[in-house]
Amino acid sequence: MKIFMATLATETNTFSPLPTGRAAFTGGREWFRHDGSRKPPTISNIPLIAWRRLGEADGHTVVESICTFAQPAGTTLRHVYEELRDMILADLRAAMPVDVVLLFMHGAMVAHGYDDCEGDTLERVRRIVGRDATIGLELDLHCHLTEQMRANADAIVLYKEYPHVDIGDRAPELYRICLDAALGKVRPVMAYHDCRMIATYRPTQDPLRGFVDRMKALEGHGGILSVSFGHGFPWADVADVGSKILVVADRDT
Ligand SMILES: [Zn+2]
Repeated sequence: MKIFMATLATETNTFSPLPTGRAAFTGGREWFRHDGSRKPPTISNIPLIAWRRLGEADGHTVVESICTFAQPAGTTLRHVYEELRDMILADLRAAMPVDVVLLFMHGAMVAHGYDDCEGDTLERVRRIVGRDATIGLELDLHCHLTEQMRANADAIVLYKEYPHVDIGDRAPELYRICLDAALGKVRPVMAYHDCRMIATYRPTQDPLRGFVDRMKALEGHGGILSVSFGHGFPWADVADVGSKILVVADRDT
């Protein structure tokens, strides 16, 4: 099978007057083009390193696009987001046919004209690869979980820990769900529960510690493939701001 992967991420505070420009994505040590997974680990490429290692060990072809993670700041300039997104889409078209797409994004990236950059990117990726391909998305738990994301991805897995020490632990979980889906071993379906809360949470302390441990304990039983808690990112004036539970299950039973 052929696996296509990319990273495009930043965390947007829409109340900040300072826009996020091109240099924030391409001017630093978090910018890679086609070879991010072959570089020493930084925040942007940790999942890509895992996905390449797993994919090649399983005998699959791995094709890689851009890898960039801008520091959290204000709204991304429209033309910058569109340029980076379109790089991914062009690389994807060139790589077709593709069986599995694995994307690492933040989940709270806002650009001028795009309140949901992740959902917009996913929808365009889906249009290229079609319904038969499997699309997986790893996100920061400080994300806005939107219907556009859910409808266009087969599986979404969030970090469970904050500080984010588990980026590399979640990547293989997403890989396994997506490859099993592509092989017909599972058929992932996703649902959200809106907690109707806007807050910050600390998984290092109870009560959230026990909550996260319970989420992990539920995985792998009764057809539950993954359980995530999207804390939300309060500093964003977008419709989907807030905390949501996300469950990925094997078939809608
Ligand atoms: Zn975060």
